[in-house]
Amino acid sequence: MNIVLLGAPGAGKGTQASKLAAEYGFIHISTGDIFRANIKGGTEIGKVAKSYIDAGKLVPDEVTCDIVKNRLAEKDIASGYMLDGFPRNLFQARELDKFARIDVCLNIDVPKELLMDRICGRRVCACGESYHVSTLNGATTCAKCGGKLYRRDDDNPETVAARLDTYEKQTAPLIDYYKAQGKLLTVHGGKGSPDGVFAEIKAKLDKLIAK
Ligand code: AMP
Repeated sequence: MNIVLLGAPGAGKGTQASKLAAEYGFIHISTGDIFRANIKGGTEIGKVAKSYIDAGKLVPDEVTCDIVKNRLAEKDIASGYMLDGFPRNLFQARELDKFARIDVCLNIDVPKELLMDRICGRRVCACGESYHVSTLNGATTCAKCGGKLYRRDDDNPETVAARLDTYEKQTAPLIDYYKAQGKLLTVHGGKGSPDGVFAEIKAKLDKLIAK
């Protein structure tokens, strides 16, 4: 099964993606992670991406679409994948439909007022786990791998405000795009624990898989 994970920054796409990967074996492909790895590695793509990411804007479509197209040409995706952070606008969604077959768009719906706090309080680990300061009890290392936790450069209030605005204007219209294709599956990610949200996702996905 090939899934597009949709949701505002802070909706919990990354968290749910790692649970989905553990449960179903789907490959997690995050364009944000790919850009951050390129920035860290000092590549040309990283140099282009950095200024956009720092401003809370979208990296140009040509760069992003090529990255995803190349990634989906690799063999490991044959048994299913999740795209996290792609597509992020209608152009990307239409391009994706030219080179991939998407089965489901999993939309994690979280009320706007929760997002700012969630992202600004977020602490992440290089292994992909993420936490919120309010539940860390002062811990500075990852409970899963022991790695050092850090705050993403773009998880500051100014950039987050720009990212939320970008989401509203450019990414939220994809909800209707996938609804029109009959592929939209919405779950409520605003209340309850990540495990509770995952239980809702799993129930809905299992129903689909059984069809
Ligand atoms: P994320 O980790 O998904 O929150 O992405 C972090 C940043 O990477 C975004 O704010 C964008 O600047 C950039 N980015 C990630 N995915 C895309 C995409 N599909 N199109 C354009 N820019 C992206």
